[in-house]
Amino acid sequence: MMPPPRSGLIPQALQSSPHRRFNPLTREWVLVSPQRTERPWQGQTERQEPESTQSYDPNCYLCPGNVRAGGARNPSYSHTFVFDNDFAGLQPDTPAAHVDVGGKGILVAQNESGICRVVCFSPRHDLTLSRMPTAEIRSLIDVWVEEFQSLGRKPGINYVQIFENRGLMMGCSNPHPHGQIWATATIPNEPRKEQEAFAEYQKQRGACLLCDYVSLEEASGDRMVCGNEYFLAVVPFWAVWPYEIMLLSKRHMGNMSALDAEARSALADLLKCVTSRYDNLFQVSCPYSMGFHQQPTDEMEHREWHFHAHFFPPLLRSATIRKFMVGFEMLGSPQRDITPEYAAEKLRQAKVVPSRTK
Ligand SMILES: [Zn+2]
Ligand SMILES: [Zn+2]
Ligand SMILES: [Zn+2]
Repeated sequence: MMPPPRSGLIPQALQSSPHRRFNPLTREWVLVSPQRTERPWQGQTERQEPESTQSYDPNCYLCPGNVRAGGARNPSYSHTFVFDNDFAGLQPDTPAAHVDVGGKGILVAQNESGICRVVCFSPRHDLTLSRMPTAEIRSLIDVWVEEFQSLGRKPGINYVQIFENRGLMMGCSNPHPHGQIWATATIPNEPRKEQEAFAEYQKQRGACLLCDYVSLEEASGDRMVCGNEYFLAVVPFWAVWPYEIMLLSKRHMGNMSALDAEARSALADLLKCVTSRYDNLFQVSCPYSMGFHQQPTDEMEHREWHFHAHFFPPLLRSATIRKFMVGFEMLGSPQRDITPEYAAEKLRQAKVVPSRTK
């Protein structure tokens, strides 16, 4: 059964019966059906992914010294390694083109240009963010900041999306710890929705949407997973994925280059905390998609933006049962069974695993 909310800020009627919750960042709704958690499971189960145990894999195209599919050879790097994606989804110079057939706004297309980079987090093939020593995650954050700044400064780059896709279940075929950066001429859909929500909230209330949200979460504690002086990890009130987490800066800042040395260490600490809790909760190297949402790099000030990260693990009940977004979710609204408060409670109970030693 669902544990009672700790602070009682959410009426019991909502905690135990179907309701919908508003996501103020995307201004969309999610349906919550807490009474469905007891239903029997007869659906698909996934095969558990074997964990990589070798620190070097001669067949991995990301390991130091190996040749990639495109023919380039990786240097024998000892910390992080960043390169342009050999099979990039975007190219820097696409010919300018735009179409709106018949001027009706129906058949509309325009050229898009951008840069795709790959960031190897570590030379160690068998590590994950959760198993990397915090000091190494801290160095990775420095690399992310440098990339954000250098890509963002390039003319024609107006948004820099840093993300990690982890695990076969998320379509990532290589277990080597790595992430990607896609820098684009236009602002992609998700940050564009958030951009509009931030600006609207700022205009209507003269305050920052996520600064206000941080205060509400700190006052409640119901959805808190872990935190430190600079950052907070919560299962957001409007979470769609069962164990979705949002990592928020406690201070108002628009992007990661505003983080000083101490704040970067604090971010490393929370990244480790979140990923370790996932591994521990599901007793596997947990698959997920994660990424940072930051100010656009379009040379406007964007004071309304508040730096944060999202974690979306696809798992529902165990390492082999994943959540599908089908049926009502494809055609109506996303839906979840366990409440975000329950998910947060489970994640709080999951202990942080120690780093794998070298
Ligand atoms: Zn590798
Ligand atoms: Zn803020
Ligand atoms: Zn966001």
